[in-house]
Amino acid sequence: MSLQRFYPIYRKLPVWLQTHACWFYGRLFVKRTYTPRYYEILSSLLESEKWSRQEIEAYQDEQIKKLISGAYANVQYYREVMDRLRLRPNDIKTVGDLVKLPVLHKETIRNNMDKFVSRTSSKGDLIFRHTSGTTGKSLHFYVNKETELLQWAIWWRHRRRFGMTNDSWHVNFSPKPFVPGDQERPPYWRWVNPMKQLILSMHHLTPPKIRAIVDFLNRRYFEFYTAFPSIVHIFAVMACEAGLRLINPPRVIFMNAENTLDFQKTFLEDFIGASIVDQYGFSEACGNASQCECGLYHEDFELGVFESLDSRDIPGGRARGRIVATGFTCHEFPFIRYDVGDIGVWENPQATCRCGRQSRLMVRVEGREDDYVVTPEGRRLMRFDFIFKDTRNCSEAQIVQEDLGKIKIVIVRRSAYSSRDERFIRNQIKIWISETIEVEFVYVTHIQREASGKFRAVKSLLGMSHKNVIPDSCEFLN
Ligand SMILES: [Zn+2]
Repeated sequence: MSLQRFYPIYRKLPVWLQTHACWFYGRLFVKRTYTPRYYEILSSLLESEKWSRQEIEAYQDEQIKKLISGAYANVQYYREVMDRLRLRPNDIKTVGDLVKLPVLHKETIRNNMDKFVSRTSSKGDLIFRHTSGTTGKSLHFYVNKETELLQWAIWWRHRRRFGMTNDSWHVNFSPKPFVPGDQERPPYWRWVNPMKQLILSMHHLTPPKIRAIVDFLNRRYFEFYTAFPSIVHIFAVMACEAGLRLINPPRVIFMNAENTLDFQKTFLEDFIGASIVDQYGFSEACGNASQCECGLYHEDFELGVFESLDSRDIPGGRARGRIVATGFTCHEFPFIRYDVGDIGVWENPQATCRCGRQSRLMVRVEGREDDYVVTPEGRRLMRFDFIFKDTRNCSEAQIVQEDLGKIKIVIVRRSAYSSRDERFIRNQIKIWISETIEVEFVYVTHIQREASGKFRAVKSLLGMSHKNVIPDSCEFLN
């Protein structure tokens, strides 16, 4: 059921009918997702995460063979590319052979959407998905049922690492308006009982409503939260501002969709006291990586394989590069060497994780490629949210660059914010970013999200000539 399609009707319903609609939505989701096949996949994932490195590599090579021969036989785009390069399926039998194929960019998919659909699939078996994309251009594509189930099973395997099961009650801090924005009285939440979930809509995290929300959360125990980091962070800041406390905090907060910034993590750990855990995934469903108990990201090798493109060695035997993903399960709409648009830092290949899992390790995923500032000195800087770390008086902050030589610091102030904070931030910028860059402070009550609902810590509105550089020329300050 697509929320967008039914939303105009949903938002006009009385609360009790919206609650029924949410129940129905949850019931449909559970029926469609938690099928016998899903449980089969989950139990095989719980086994495969114990595999040795050799077993993992053999499995991945086997998947590549099947994927490539299917793509060549049935998918027009790949047939044309391979013919042009005089490649036959036999030439690409291992993960290492993938480099023989070109990297796949979003624009190529946009321009050739029909050529990516396998001739053996009927569109009725495929699930349509789209992303809104940081540049506002959406990408449309399909995934098959098996991939969707595998993706959910991978996410639940991740939650199990921290003691959660499908029966654990949880709160979902959502950017979607399940509670219509114009509702002025509680409940500012909706139950989705079949999914053991309570949804809190971002739109109601406002000072006048925060007490009702915290009081409600204090009446009942939820084992974990799932959240966009920027949303749960704003919730915690507002609760703290109002002098409120969570007396029944969750054990874990699972972050999704955005990078968790350092100042958000510190504040949440202090205020809520839960473990902050992350996983990296995307709608195209051709790769995923999930943090383990030791804090490193393990590639979920059952779904696909990552390559590090334009890889640069960095100290400690680590490598930083663009994340390029090849998905194993969706032969009906294959993503082969797909440039996701993110940057990853891979751990030294010789390193092992204390948790014992043998899949490849990533240390972190860094900002989107266009999220950086260009200084008058010509430096390109990403990830400097730490300049706000010691200023606890900002509830949200974003750096926007519209012109070379100038940045705007957009801040949502907490009540204790003063000119001292502004001076402190100005000084941090001088030290860490540039002596000469012009800085303008803009104070707002709310920072605009992207079409996808995501928050961007650094937003560059410079022309494409400045944006489209390979990010290995960027500096990462932490
Ligand atoms: Zn580990």
